[in-house]
Amino acid sequence: MQCAINGGVLELVQGNIVDQAVDAVVNAANPSLLGGGGVDGAIHRAAGPQLLAKCATLGGCRTGEAKLTPGYRLPARAVIHTVGPVYKDGQHGEAELLARAYQSSLALASQHGLARLALPSISTGVYGYPLAEAAHIALSTVVSYLQTHPEIALVRFVLWGSDSFATYCRVLAELCPGT
Ligand code: ADP
Repeated sequence: MQCAINGGVLELVQGNIVDQAVDAVVNAANPSLLGGGGVDGAIHRAAGPQLLAKCATLGGCRTGEAKLTPGYRLPARAVIHTVGPVYKDGQHGEAELLARAYQSSLALASQHGLARLALPSISTGVYGYPLAEAAHIALSTVVSYLQTHPEIALVRFVLWGSDSFATYCRVLAELCPGT
């Protein structure tokens, strides 16, 4: 499923983020940047040990912020590591922090001329964010960013599993009628 926004493309696919041959993949990391499960584990396994060695020099990453490394053995040139919020009850600033994780990642891509990006569904695995709410925040944040940043040519959400993919498709159809 695709939606054209201001010359850029927002695309949803079901698949594995480590297979994406784009300028940068976004990693749903934890604040230590020293590896974890889910997307983080998959990215570190595919990129090889140099990625962990580089991450160890970065001093971690606060929730809502983002840091850049090379992609090493990944088909992607670079990895943007960001940290989404752990979901408690929705009353602890989770929505704002999740939006900020996407914004920080996109801003880092703009700064470094990384025009084609692949993103996972941040915070909806171990961090427990309810999927539909997270999809709404993720997609509306990316739509707003693309509307004002023509330097980003492609944002591809890579959803793991049919539930995530179906939920993101439903939310995108609401946000971009006619897609
Ligand atoms: P978080 O800690 O931010 O919740 P996770 O990595 O646990 O991050 O999960 C985030 C989302 O990414 C979940 O929906 C999970 O199913 C999905 N996911 C897990 N592995 C992959 C992968 N290899 N590619 C794309 N998405 C993945």
